[in-house]
Amino acid sequence: MNNKLEKISDTLLLGPGPSTVNPNVYKALSVKTVGHLDPRFIDIMDEIKNLLRVAFKTENDFCMPISGTGSAAMETCFVNLIDPNDKVLIIQNGYFSVRMEDMCNRLGANLDVLKFDWGKPADINIVEEKIKNNSYDIIAVVHAETSTGVKNDIRSLSTLIKDDTLLLVDAVTSLGTIELEVDKWGIDAIYSCSQKGLSCPPGASPVSFSNKSINKMKKRKHLIPNWYLDMLEIIKYWDGNQRAYHHTAPINMMYALYQGLLNLTEEGIENSWNRHIETHKYLASELHDLGLEFLVDKDSRLPSLNAMIIPEGVDDLSVRASLLKNYNIEIGGGLGPFAGKVWRIGLMGYSAHKKHVDTLISALKNIL
Ligand code: PLP
Repeated sequence: MNNKLEKISDTLLLGPGPSTVNPNVYKALSVKTVGHLDPRFIDIMDEIKNLLRVAFKTENDFCMPISGTGSAAMETCFVNLIDPNDKVLIIQNGYFSVRMEDMCNRLGANLDVLKFDWGKPADINIVEEKIKNNSYDIIAVVHAETSTGVKNDIRSLSTLIKDDTLLLVDAVTSLGTIELEVDKWGIDAIYSCSQKGLSCPPGASPVSFSNKSINKMKKRKHLIPNWYLDMLEIIKYWDGNQRAYHHTAPINMMYALYQGLLNLTEEGIENSWNRHIETHKYLASELHDLGLEFLVDKDSRLPSLNAMIIPEGVDDLSVRASLLKNYNIEIGGGLGPFAGKVWRIGLMGYSAHKKHVDTLISALKNIL
Protein backbone atom coordinates (compact mmCIF):
# COMPACT_ATOMS: atom_id res chain seq x y z
CA MET A 1 0.00 0.00 0.00
CA ASN A 2 1.10 3.53 -0.74
CA ASN A 3 1.58 5.34 2.59
CA LYS A 4 1.55 9.09 2.05
CA LEU A 5 3.57 9.67 5.22
CA GLU A 6 6.60 8.24 3.43
CA LYS A 7 6.64 11.36 1.27
CA ILE A 8 7.23 13.63 4.27
CA SER A 9 10.93 14.38 4.59
CA ASP A 10 12.88 16.60 6.96
CA THR A 11 11.98 20.19 6.13
CA LEU A 12 13.67 23.25 7.55
CA LEU A 13 10.74 25.42 8.62
CA LEU A 14 11.72 29.07 8.27
CA GLY A 15 8.28 30.49 7.64
CA PRO A 16 5.75 32.19 9.93
CA GLY A 17 5.15 28.95 11.84
CA PRO A 18 5.23 26.12 12.53
CA SER A 19 8.94 26.32 13.27
CA THR A 20 11.22 23.31 12.98
CA VAL A 21 10.34 20.88 15.76
CA ASN A 22 13.12 20.19 18.21
CA PRO A 23 14.20 16.50 17.92
CA ASN A 24 13.70 15.99 21.65
CA VAL A 25 10.09 17.16 21.22
CA TYR A 26 9.56 14.40 18.65
CA LYS A 27 10.92 12.01 21.23
CA ALA A 28 8.48 13.37 23.82
CA LEU A 29 5.59 12.91 21.39
CA SER A 30 6.34 9.22 21.08
CA VAL A 31 6.29 8.56 24.83
CA LYS A 32 3.52 6.08 25.67
CA THR A 33 0.06 7.54 25.99
CA VAL A 34 -1.47 7.25 29.48
CA GLY A 35 -4.95 8.13 30.70
CA HIS A 36 -5.87 11.78 31.17
CA LEU A 37 -6.39 11.25 34.93
CA ASP A 38 -3.29 9.11 35.43
CA PRO A 39 -1.36 10.58 38.38
CA ARG A 40 1.84 10.65 36.28
CA PHE A 41 0.06 12.76 33.69
CA ILE A 42 -1.41 15.06 36.35
CA ASP A 43 2.14 15.53 37.63
CA ILE A 44 3.19 16.63 34.12
CA MET A 45 0.18 18.98 33.90
CA ASP A 46 1.23 20.63 37.17
CA GLU A 47 4.76 21.06 35.91
CA ILE A 48 3.47 22.57 32.64
CA LYS A 49 1.66 25.21 34.71
CA ASN A 50 4.85 25.97 36.67
CA LEU A 51 6.94 26.19 33.50
CA LEU A 52 4.37 28.48 31.89
CA ARG A 53 4.70 30.85 34.85
CA VAL A 54 8.42 31.01 34.18
CA ALA A 55 7.96 31.45 30.42
CA PHE A 56 5.31 34.17 30.77
CA LYS A 57 7.14 35.78 33.72
CA THR A 58 4.09 35.78 35.92
CA GLU A 59 2.87 34.69 39.32
CA ASN A 60 -0.63 34.12 37.94
CA ASP A 61 -2.26 30.99 39.37
CA PHE A 62 -4.18 30.63 36.18
CA CYS A 63 -1.67 29.40 33.55
CA MET A 64 -2.46 26.42 31.37
CA PRO A 65 -2.60 25.19 27.79
CA ILE A 66 -5.77 25.11 25.74
CA SER A 67 -6.32 21.97 23.63
CA GLY A 68 -6.15 23.60 20.23
CA THR A 69 -4.07 26.04 18.20
CA GLY A 70 -3.36 29.72 18.81
CA SER A 71 -6.77 30.76 17.47
CA ALA A 72 -8.48 28.55 20.07
CA ALA A 73 -6.43 30.31 22.75
CA MET A 74 -7.36 33.69 21.25
CA GLU A 75 -11.02 32.69 21.29
CA THR A 76 -10.66 31.44 24.88
CA CYS A 77 -9.59 34.89 26.02
CA PHE A 78 -12.42 36.71 24.27
CA VAL A 79 -15.16 34.21 24.97
CA ASN A 80 -14.42 34.12 28.70
CA LEU A 81 -13.91 37.85 29.18
CA ILE A 82 -16.47 39.55 26.95
CA ASP A 83 -19.99 40.07 28.19
CA PRO A 84 -22.42 41.28 25.51
CA ASN A 85 -22.08 45.05 25.01
CA ASP A 86 -18.75 45.24 26.80
CA LYS A 87 -16.72 48.09 25.40
CA VAL A 88 -13.69 46.65 23.64
CA LEU A 89 -10.85 48.44 21.87
CA ILE A 90 -8.79 46.52 19.33
CA ILE A 91 -5.52 48.05 18.26
CA GLN A 92 -5.23 46.88 14.69
CA ASN A 93 -2.19 46.81 12.42
CA GLY A 94 -2.22 43.39 10.80
CA TYR A 95 -3.97 40.18 9.92
CA PHE A 96 -4.33 38.75 13.42
CA SER A 97 -5.97 41.79 14.97
CA VAL A 98 -8.50 41.58 12.12
CA ARG A 99 -9.21 38.06 13.38
CA MET A 100 -9.69 39.55 16.87
CA GLU A 101 -12.26 41.95 15.42
CA ASP A 102 -14.17 39.08 13.83
CA MET A 103 -14.28 37.15 17.13
CA CYS A 104 -15.38 40.18 19.16
CA ASN A 105 -18.16 40.97 16.69
CA ARG A 106 -19.50 37.44 17.01
CA LEU A 107 -19.61 37.89 20.79
CA GLY A 108 -21.69 41.06 20.60
CA ALA A 109 -19.00 43.38 21.93
CA ASN A 110 -19.39 47.12 21.64
CA LEU A 111 -16.32 47.42 19.47
CA ASP A 112 -13.91 50.22 18.68
CA VAL A 113 -11.11 49.43 16.23
CA LEU A 114 -8.12 51.74 16.12
CA LYS A 115 -6.41 51.10 12.79
CA PHE A 116 -2.79 51.65 11.85
CA ASP A 117 -1.05 50.84 8.59
CA TRP A 118 0.05 47.23 8.19
CA GLY A 119 3.83 47.08 8.49
CA LYS A 120 3.95 49.93 11.04
CA PRO A 121 3.69 49.70 14.84
CA ALA A 122 0.70 51.18 16.67
CA ASP A 123 1.42 54.85 17.43
CA ILE A 124 1.37 55.12 21.21
CA ASN A 125 0.40 58.81 21.20
CA ILE A 126 -2.69 58.09 19.13
CA VAL A 127 -3.58 55.13 21.39
CA GLU A 128 -3.12 57.37 24.45
CA GLU A 129 -5.51 59.97 23.03
CA LYS A 130 -8.11 57.27 22.30
CA ILE A 131 -7.87 55.78 25.80
CA LYS A 132 -7.99 59.17 27.49
CA ASN A 133 -11.29 60.02 25.84
CA ASN A 134 -13.02 56.67 26.30
CA SER A 135 -13.58 54.01 28.87
CA TYR A 136 -13.02 50.38 27.85
CA ASP A 137 -13.64 47.04 29.52
CA ILE A 138 -10.94 45.38 27.41
CA ILE A 139 -8.09 46.61 25.23
CA ALA A 140 -6.67 43.96 22.90
CA VAL A 141 -3.44 44.06 20.95
CA VAL A 142 -1.09 41.71 19.09
CA HIS A 143 2.44 41.85 20.47
CA ALA A 144 4.25 40.29 17.51
CA GLU A 145 2.31 40.70 14.24
CA THR A 146 3.34 37.63 12.25
CA SER A 147 1.68 38.95 9.09
CA THR A 148 4.14 41.84 8.73
CA GLY A 149 7.00 41.33 11.20
CA VAL A 150 6.04 44.32 13.36
CA LYS A 151 6.46 44.51 17.13
CA ASN A 152 3.95 46.56 19.10
CA ASP A 153 5.28 48.31 22.20
CA ILE A 154 3.29 46.58 24.95
CA ARG A 155 5.48 48.00 27.71
CA SER A 156 4.51 51.60 26.78
CA LEU A 157 0.92 50.67 26.06
CA SER A 158 0.57 49.04 29.46
CA THR A 159 1.30 52.35 31.22
CA LEU A 160 -1.86 53.81 29.64
CA ILE A 161 -4.30 51.15 30.84
CA LYS A 162 -6.84 52.35 33.41
CA ASP A 163 -7.62 50.32 36.55
CA ASP A 164 -11.03 49.15 35.35
CA THR A 165 -9.73 47.94 31.96
CA LEU A 166 -8.27 44.54 31.09
CA LEU A 167 -5.22 44.38 28.84
CA LEU A 168 -5.41 41.36 26.52
CA VAL A 169 -2.29 40.43 24.53
CA ASP A 170 -1.63 38.04 21.66
CA ALA A 171 1.79 36.48 22.28
CA VAL A 172 1.52 33.76 19.65
CA THR A 173 4.79 34.75 17.97
CA SER A 174 6.40 36.53 20.92
CA LEU A 175 6.50 33.87 23.66
CA GLY A 176 10.11 32.71 24.00
CA THR A 177 11.33 34.83 21.09
CA ILE A 178 11.22 38.47 22.31
CA GLU A 179 11.04 40.28 25.63
CA LEU A 180 7.69 39.60 27.29
CA GLU A 181 6.85 40.43 30.93
CA VAL A 182 3.29 39.53 31.88
CA ASP A 183 3.37 40.80 35.48
CA LYS A 184 5.66 43.79 35.03
CA TRP A 185 3.56 45.01 32.10
CA GLY A 186 0.26 44.38 33.89
CA ILE A 187 -1.13 42.03 31.23
CA ASP A 188 -4.50 40.57 32.30
CA ALA A 189 -5.03 37.96 29.63
CA ILE A 190 -2.44 36.46 27.32
CA TYR A 191 -2.32 33.59 24.88
CA SER A 192 0.28 31.91 22.73
CA CYS A 193 0.81 28.69 20.79
CA SER A 194 3.10 25.67 20.74
CA GLN A 195 4.42 25.81 17.17
CA LYS A 196 6.57 28.93 17.12
CA GLY A 197 8.92 29.91 19.95
CA LEU A 198 8.43 26.56 21.69
CA SER A 199 9.15 24.50 18.55
CA CYS A 200 6.47 21.90 19.10
CA PRO A 201 3.84 20.84 16.57
CA PRO A 202 0.65 22.94 16.66
CA GLY A 203 -2.10 21.83 19.05
CA ALA A 204 -1.60 23.00 22.66
CA SER A 205 -1.74 26.72 23.31
CA PRO A 206 -0.81 28.42 26.59
CA VAL A 207 -3.05 31.04 28.20
CA SER A 208 -2.70 32.99 31.43
CA PHE A 209 -5.15 35.21 33.30
CA SER A 210 -4.64 37.74 36.11
CA ASN A 211 -6.86 37.73 39.21
CA LYS A 212 -8.62 40.76 37.76
CA SER A 213 -9.60 38.66 34.72
CA ILE A 214 -10.69 35.71 36.83
CA ASN A 215 -12.87 37.97 38.97
CA LYS A 216 -14.51 39.30 35.84
CA MET A 217 -15.22 35.73 34.64
CA LYS A 218 -16.73 34.82 38.01
CA LYS A 219 -18.98 37.87 38.05
CA ARG A 220 -20.24 37.47 34.48
CA LYS A 221 -23.92 38.23 33.94
CA HIS A 222 -24.20 35.66 31.14
CA LEU A 223 -22.95 32.09 30.89
CA ILE A 224 -19.68 31.78 28.96
CA PRO A 225 -21.09 31.20 25.48
CA ASN A 226 -18.76 28.36 24.53
CA TRP A 227 -18.71 25.02 26.31
CA TYR A 228 -15.32 23.73 25.14
CA LEU A 229 -13.36 26.86 26.06
CA ASP A 230 -15.07 27.69 29.37
CA MET A 231 -12.11 28.36 31.68
CA LEU A 232 -14.15 28.08 34.87
CA GLU A 233 -14.97 24.48 33.90
CA ILE A 234 -11.56 23.57 32.44
CA ILE A 235 -9.81 24.72 35.60
CA LYS A 236 -11.54 21.92 37.50
CA TYR A 237 -9.48 19.49 35.42
CA TRP A 238 -6.24 21.49 35.53
CA ASP A 239 -6.22 22.49 39.20
CA GLY A 240 -7.15 21.34 42.71
CA ASN A 241 -6.88 18.08 44.65
CA GLN A 242 -9.79 16.35 42.95
CA ARG A 243 -9.43 16.56 39.15
CA ALA A 244 -12.65 16.32 37.17
CA TYR A 245 -12.92 15.23 33.54
CA HIS A 246 -13.82 18.03 31.15
CA HIS A 247 -12.51 16.82 27.79
CA THR A 248 -9.81 14.27 27.01
CA ALA A 249 -6.57 16.19 27.00
CA PRO A 250 -4.38 15.64 23.92
CA ILE A 251 -1.94 13.72 26.10
CA ASN A 252 1.00 13.45 23.71
CA MET A 253 0.72 17.09 22.66
CA MET A 254 1.01 17.95 26.35
CA TYR A 255 4.17 15.81 26.56
CA ALA A 256 5.51 17.83 23.63
CA LEU A 257 4.59 21.15 25.20
CA TYR A 258 6.21 20.07 28.46
CA GLN A 259 9.44 19.26 26.62
CA GLY A 260 9.29 22.53 24.64
CA LEU A 261 8.89 24.49 27.88
CA LEU A 262 11.72 22.53 29.52
CA ASN A 263 13.94 23.41 26.56
CA LEU A 264 13.10 27.09 26.89
CA THR A 265 13.55 27.30 30.64
CA GLU A 266 16.74 25.24 30.62
CA GLU A 267 18.24 27.60 28.05
CA GLY A 268 16.95 30.58 30.06
CA ILE A 269 14.27 32.97 28.79
CA GLU A 270 16.63 35.91 28.39
CA ASN A 271 19.20 33.71 26.63
CA SER A 272 16.53 32.61 24.22
CA TRP A 273 15.52 36.23 23.49
CA ASN A 274 19.18 37.08 22.88
CA ARG A 275 19.69 34.10 20.58
CA HIS A 276 16.76 35.30 18.50
CA ILE A 277 18.24 38.80 18.27
CA GLU A 278 21.71 37.50 17.32
CA THR A 279 20.35 35.13 14.67
CA HIS A 280 18.15 37.89 13.28
CA LYS A 281 21.14 40.24 12.99
CA TYR A 282 23.12 37.57 11.20
CA LEU A 283 20.22 36.93 8.79
CA ALA A 284 19.81 40.67 8.21
CA SER A 285 23.45 41.13 7.22
CA GLU A 286 23.41 38.08 4.92
CA LEU A 287 20.19 39.21 3.24
CA HIS A 288 21.58 42.72 2.88
CA ASP A 289 24.51 41.25 0.95
CA LEU A 290 21.97 39.57 -1.34
CA GLY A 291 20.33 42.95 -1.95
CA LEU A 292 17.12 42.25 -0.01
CA GLU A 293 15.46 44.93 2.13
CA PHE A 294 13.17 44.81 5.16
CA LEU A 295 9.54 45.88 5.02
CA VAL A 296 9.60 47.16 8.61
CA ASP A 297 11.67 49.99 10.14
CA LYS A 298 14.58 48.82 12.29
CA ASP A 299 13.10 49.97 15.63
CA SER A 300 9.96 47.86 15.36
CA ARG A 301 11.28 44.78 13.59
CA LEU A 302 10.65 41.37 15.08
CA PRO A 303 13.72 39.16 15.22
CA SER A 304 11.42 36.16 14.95
CA LEU A 305 9.65 37.25 11.74
CA ASN A 306 11.58 38.96 8.99
CA ALA A 307 9.42 40.40 6.21
CA MET A 308 11.66 40.96 3.17
CA ILE A 309 10.61 42.92 0.10
CA ILE A 310 10.71 40.69 -2.99
CA PRO A 311 13.00 42.36 -5.54
CA GLU A 312 11.44 43.56 -8.79
CA GLY A 313 11.38 40.92 -11.49
CA VAL A 314 11.66 38.02 -9.02
CA ASP A 315 8.74 35.61 -8.97
CA ASP A 316 7.51 34.95 -5.41
CA LEU A 317 5.94 31.55 -5.99
CA SER A 318 8.69 30.02 -8.10
CA VAL A 319 11.38 30.97 -5.55
CA ARG A 320 9.40 29.51 -2.66
CA ALA A 321 8.54 26.40 -4.68
CA SER A 322 12.19 25.87 -5.56
CA LEU A 323 13.27 26.32 -1.93
CA LEU A 324 10.81 23.65 -0.87
CA LYS A 325 11.29 21.20 -3.74
CA ASN A 326 15.05 21.41 -4.22
CA TYR A 327 16.28 22.39 -0.76
CA ASN A 328 13.56 21.26 1.68
CA ILE A 329 13.24 24.76 3.10
CA GLU A 330 9.95 26.52 3.76
CA ILE A 331 9.60 30.30 3.95
CA GLY A 332 6.29 32.17 3.96
CA GLY A 333 4.64 34.47 1.43
CA GLY A 334 2.97 37.80 2.21
CA LEU A 335 -0.56 38.18 3.59
CA GLY A 336 -3.28 40.71 2.70
CA PRO A 337 -1.81 43.81 1.00
CA PHE A 338 1.64 42.19 1.04
CA ALA A 339 0.67 39.01 -0.85
CA GLY A 340 3.25 38.52 -3.62
CA LYS A 341 5.26 41.48 -2.31
CA VAL A 342 7.18 40.09 0.68
CA TRP A 343 8.68 36.89 1.94
CA ARG A 344 8.24 36.09 5.60
CA ILE A 345 11.31 34.42 7.04
CA GLY A 346 10.71 33.06 10.51
CA LEU A 347 13.47 32.52 13.04
CA MET A 348 11.56 30.98 15.89
CA GLY A 349 12.63 28.57 18.61
CA TYR A 350 14.72 25.71 17.23
CA SER A 351 14.81 27.39 13.79
CA ALA A 352 16.63 30.43 15.22
CA HIS A 353 20.20 29.21 14.78
CA LYS A 354 22.94 30.56 12.53
CA LYS A 355 23.44 27.17 10.86
CA HIS A 356 19.85 27.33 9.59
CA VAL A 357 20.42 30.85 8.26
CA ASP A 358 23.50 29.55 6.40
CA THR A 359 21.43 26.78 4.82
CA LEU A 360 18.80 29.27 3.64
CA ILE A 361 21.30 31.81 2.34
CA SER A 362 23.25 29.26 0.34
CA ALA A 363 19.99 28.05 -1.26
CA LEU A 364 18.87 31.60 -2.02
CA LYS A 365 22.25 32.38 -3.61
CA ASN A 366 21.70 29.49 -6.02
CA ILE A 367 18.12 30.45 -6.83
CA LEU A 368 18.26 34.25 -7.15
N1 PLP B 1 -2.01 35.27 16.34
C1 PLP B 1 -0.84 35.38 15.69
C2 PLP B 1 0.02 36.58 15.94
C3 PLP B 1 -0.42 34.39 14.82
O1 PLP B 1 0.74 34.50 14.18
C4 PLP B 1 -1.26 33.26 14.61
C5 PLP B 1 -0.86 32.20 13.67
O2 PLP B 1 0.11 32.27 12.99
C6 PLP B 1 -2.46 33.18 15.30
C7 PLP B 1 -2.81 34.21 16.17
C8 PLP B 1 -3.37 32.01 15.13
O3 PLP B 1 -2.75 30.84 15.55
P1 PLP B 1 -3.10 29.41 14.94
O4 PLP B 1 -2.81 29.46 13.47
O5 PLP B 1 -2.16 28.50 15.69
O6 PLP B 1 -4.52 29.12 15.22
